[in-house]
Amino acid sequence: MTVRVAIDLSLDKLFTYAVPVELEKKLAVGQLLLVPFGHREARGFAMELGSNRVGLGSDRVGLESTLTDPNQTLKDPKTLPYRLKPVKAIVDETPFFSPELLRLVRQIAAYTASPIESVLRAAVPSAVLRPGARARELIFVEPALAPADSSVTKHQQWLYDQIVRLGGGWLQQLCKELKTTPATLRELGRKGLVSVAPRAKRRDPLTGRRVLPSKALPLNPGQKAALDAILSPASAPSPDTPPRPLLLHGVTGSGKTEVYLQAIAAELEAGRGAIVMVPEIALTPQTVQRFVSRFGNRIAVLHSSLSDGERYDEWHRIRSGEARVVIGPRSAVFAPVKRLGLIVVDEEHETSYKQDETPRYHARDVAVMRGAIEGARVVLGSATPSLESWMNATRGKYALASMTERAGAGTLPSVRIVDMENPGDKGRIFSSVLLEAIRLRLDRGEQTILFLNRRGWSRSVTCESCGHVLECPDCSVPYTYHRADSCCRCHICGGWIPVPSECPECRARALAYRGIGTQRAEDALKACFPRARILRMDADSTSRKNSHDDILGAFRRHEADVLLGTQMIAKGLDFPNVTLVGVLNADSSLNMPDFRAGERTFQLLSQVAGRAGRAELPGDALIQTYDPSSEVIRAAARGDYPAFAKAELAERKEAFFPPFCHLATVNLRSEDAKTVADWSDMYAKSLMKVGGLDVGEAVPSALEKAEGWYRWQIVLRAPKVGVIVKAWKWIIGVRPPPAQLRVTLDVDAYNLM
Ligand code: ADP
Ligand code: ZN
Repeated sequence: MTVRVAIDLSLDKLFTYAVPVELEKKLAVGQLLLVPFGHREARGFAMELGSNRVGLGSDRVGLESTLTDPNQTLKDPKTLPYRLKPVKAIVDETPFFSPELLRLVRQIAAYTASPIESVLRAAVPSAVLRPGARARELIFVEPALAPADSSVTKHQQWLYDQIVRLGGGWLQQLCKELKTTPATLRELGRKGLVSVAPRAKRRDPLTGRRVLPSKALPLNPGQKAALDAILSPASAPSPDTPPRPLLLHGVTGSGKTEVYLQAIAAELEAGRGAIVMVPEIALTPQTVQRFVSRFGNRIAVLHSSLSDGERYDEWHRIRSGEARVVIGPRSAVFAPVKRLGLIVVDEEHETSYKQDETPRYHARDVAVMRGAIEGARVVLGSATPSLESWMNATRGKYALASMTERAGAGTLPSVRIVDMENPGDKGRIFSSVLLEAIRLRLDRGEQTILFLNRRGWSRSVTCESCGHVLECPDCSVPYTYHRADSCCRCHICGGWIPVPSECPECRARALAYRGIGTQRAEDALKACFPRARILRMDADSTSRKNSHDDILGAFRRHEADVLLGTQMIAKGLDFPNVTLVGVLNADSSLNMPDFRAGERTFQLLSQVAGRAGRAELPGDALIQTYDPSSEVIRAAARGDYPAFAKAELAERKEAFFPPFCHLATVNLRSEDAKTVADWSDMYAKSLMKVGGLDVGEAVPSALEKAEGWYRWQIVLRAPKVGVIVKAWKWIIGVRPPPAQLRVTLDVDAYNLM
């Protein structure tokens, strides 16, 4: 017997090993193995089992594993006698991947043109694989069933009775509670009253966050219809005829979460498990608690701020089947849930589902792939679906359910567009209409959220004499002025300089601060309303651990009147007392050099506006713009997603952009400007010869230089991803990049900067 192994060295190859007879019965795909590799040992996952083909010579992969030096040139395999090296050991007999998950991993590797090991690595938390990672064991004291021997003292009897009453406990804790010593309790053990033994103690990320259980709410007709569509017998989980994914288009506050909760409950009832994905930014204690209060201990939480120990334990609770429902960000799509019945992707349009390093997978698309492989239901939910999903739904590839009303007490906010070209408002941070609206909230004791997509004080520092803009020397972006520490900071690399007293170009003492950041808006607001309590939330004010939760907690407790922030505040927040939302500058997102700028703006405006009027109090949203006739802004103000999608899709079709094609970027970086320019040009010209592939000119990226690296880009478009991946593999094969050049392919790219 042989086994093909993916070794964790980014070689993008499988290596074949012989399986020693004593391991034959135990070895299974998905296990982590220890194998000889060159002069040392390596760990790798068993991908495929096969029969022994030693000596056939045609098995190139088999040959590779026998080479002591991976760089050694291959001799003619037919003439080279060789023996496969044997697997050394099985690291863990319980497979880390089911055969279905391995299939998924291979599909992702092929789709994203990434090394298979990189996908394997993305799919298992490193905390789980680290050598030495294991469950934490503590000493547990449990009352024994056997009757005690009569040499038991009174005090020992009392201790025993207390331990029975408590149902046992951790040694250390019992010592504290019963005011005794470990030696005394061990003595009870020797007398057969209790058992004293090590036991795994769960590191629980929800410690101290336990909440009261909640019951299913009676659904309104829209929710009922959506739940029925999700659970329709036609879409019953089955690997033979995988159910059609369902797009749940529901306005903010329409009660999508309640629908997810009840769909999951139905799956649990049927003995199946579920995965719920939420964008990392929305993975707040508030969101997690809604799931914990419904499903209690059956929930496992995976997110970036877990400790390694917590992550280890949560992952093992999922693999063992103890936890049946997983909530987490994009990597949760790989959770080893047993008998998976349902995957929910909440806020499916969120770009944080796309990983921006290798493997560049999109978790929403992976969810759909996984659903198809495992026969699980997939629900994609959003108030502003991605145009990709919307088109799939309107064309019948996905089922569609819509919820157009708010579910709870809330009503949708009335949205008004404020034309900043008005003479009185032009050039100001706050229009008079917005100031008046804020004043009204302050008078009434209600709260306001203000949104501005730029942190810092000013957008740039410009010389009014010669026009020179201070730029970061390592990145092609203007410095942002930060007033609190009086410096110019680069938002790409974090580098900073003290504010110069004169222009470095013309020596004029005429440096001026242009544009508005959150700090400047905060100062301006303080000047208008000296007694208003203002909280600012952006990357600068939330750099401390927990500061994120602290700010939101303070706002929830109404310790502030106004919350001013960047996109951090746009999503998922639910504050009943907020009755006004102001968008200070809708144009900054609309004018981004990206074909999705309109889509992003629509999403952003809808999400921000959706923060108002969540409860009994009706809400208003005011959108300030210099472009009030923009269809995107107007459709967002009307809350008319279908109209927006129709217009936007027509434009995308005309220009041959996704979802009418697949778009990938080839991204080239080098510290040498000429190398990157020359090679980009060569790659683009070569790729243009490939049939069925639309290749753009090689151009410097919108962010031309970052952290000292020059960046270029080639845009590839084709009706099928396969065409793009094939062309890429071909060109990288025939013209491998030199050492000083980094080249990557981003299939279905979302970040075009
Ligand atoms: P969404 O996820 O669509 O933004 P939520 O699930 O957060 O919406 O629901 C918004 C509010 O409406 C929540 O406070 C929720 O408790 C409430 N809600 C949801 N469904 C119902 C229902 N059927 N009856 C009463 N209140 C509901
Ligand atoms: Zn920089």
